[in-house]
Amino acid sequence: MAVHSSTLVHPKPVRAIRRMAVVVVHSNPLQEPGAGDAGGMTVYVREIARTLSSRGIEVDIFTRQDRQGAELESRLYPGVKVFQLPAGDPLLSKEEVPAHLPEFACNVRRLVDDRSFSYDMIHSHYWLSGRVATKLSERWNVPFVHTFHTLGKAKNRSLQAGDLQEPEGRLTGEGRVIAEADAIVASTNEERDWLLNLYAAHPEKIHVISPGVDHLRFAPGDTAAAKRSFGLEGKKVLLFVGRLQPLKGPDTALRAFAHLIEWGRLSRDEAALLVVGGASGISGIDEPSRLKALAEDLSIAGSVRFVPAQPHQELPRFYQAADVLLVPSHTESFGLVALEGMASGVPVVGSAVGGLKAIVQHGHTGFLVEPDAAHTFAERAWQILSDPLLRETMSRLAVCSSEDYSWHRSAADLHSVYMSC
Ligand code: UDP
Repeated sequence: MAVHSSTLVHPKPVRAIRRMAVVVVHSNPLQEPGAGDAGGMTVYVREIARTLSSRGIEVDIFTRQDRQGAELESRLYPGVKVFQLPAGDPLLSKEEVPAHLPEFACNVRRLVDDRSFSYDMIHSHYWLSGRVATKLSERWNVPFVHTFHTLGKAKNRSLQAGDLQEPEGRLTGEGRVIAEADAIVASTNEERDWLLNLYAAHPEKIHVISPGVDHLRFAPGDTAAAKRSFGLEGKKVLLFVGRLQPLKGPDTALRAFAHLIEWGRLSRDEAALLVVGGASGISGIDEPSRLKALAEDLSIAGSVRFVPAQPHQELPRFYQAADVLLVPSHTESFGLVALEGMASGVPVVGSAVGGLKAIVQHGHTGFLVEPDAAHTFAERAWQILSDPLLRETMSRLAVCSSEDYSWHRSAADLHSVYMSC
């Protein structure tokens, strides 16, 4: 059939991606998440790299050496290597890293030149890495895609007592990354709106791609057996998982639990709150001791178990033991913990903020509550705990709804963005 030239669509050129460089200056992907600087971004970088590698792309991840004597080169997964390069003292805090970005970029370039590596694409994570990616992308003449994970201006709008204002240098740096990246990946529509409204990003640069969840790791299991493994058989179990810092709202979880005891809904002997995670960031240094003191003040210390950060593969047992998962964050760019809980069949009571609004379906897979409203967190948790039929229905819907998310889907969407850059 003849086709009029005016009707021909000229597709955008598609780039083949065989080898890519991932820049993640802080938050070393070899560290276990759940404390310090390692959290959702660590899981995201690992899972996307693993999945891209299964799509035939070789991935080299460049990160800053964060302990003395770290190996220069390690294999994370087949086809995925991590290079830890020096830049400043290994024990620097994230806030001190910006001054060492030029040294880091220089060391990456040197290593790549020495080994005659080449890349088709760069993907950088968090604004610090975006500043490095700008330099590398100019030098290697390849595009770079950037994911922020958190945005300083959005964070400054949700500061809690004890949180420090994000510095001007970060906000300016983010603006430059937005201007210089070839594409920006936002995890949610809300993040897209922040990029547009708070930073005047160009709408055509932004692609909304949700993170995923590993359904082989996070799936429903035998709740009674999981509870037994913690010595909590027969008890109602509430769970909080995350880096301990004020923004994550672990104090709200404690207060909500205390309300349930105080109202006589739960008894101290027949209920437990598990708080899993370690101190994170400057504002979180004192958080574990602050939370322990709060548990004493609320007279719930005997029923609250503080568990240090757990390797990711240990978490399924915690989710499986839980009757309800509390995610009381004040801000949450996505909220992998909520998604992992849902995939494990746990209804979520979470704050109506950020990615949680997209992940939790209010009234179906859990409830969305104003952050800080410990009273409402307690009421909603009790609604689930006191009604086995509702819990069972929410649990099934949570699993079903979590199936909309997978790392395979996220990686496939990212791959398309890379090819179109
Ligand atoms: N996590 C973990 N061990 C812990 C606590 C948390 O592996 O002890 C993981 C958790 O499973 C999730 C990630 O850390 O995958 C936290 O991601 P999320 O998006 O919930 O929060 P972020 O750290 O990005 O603020």
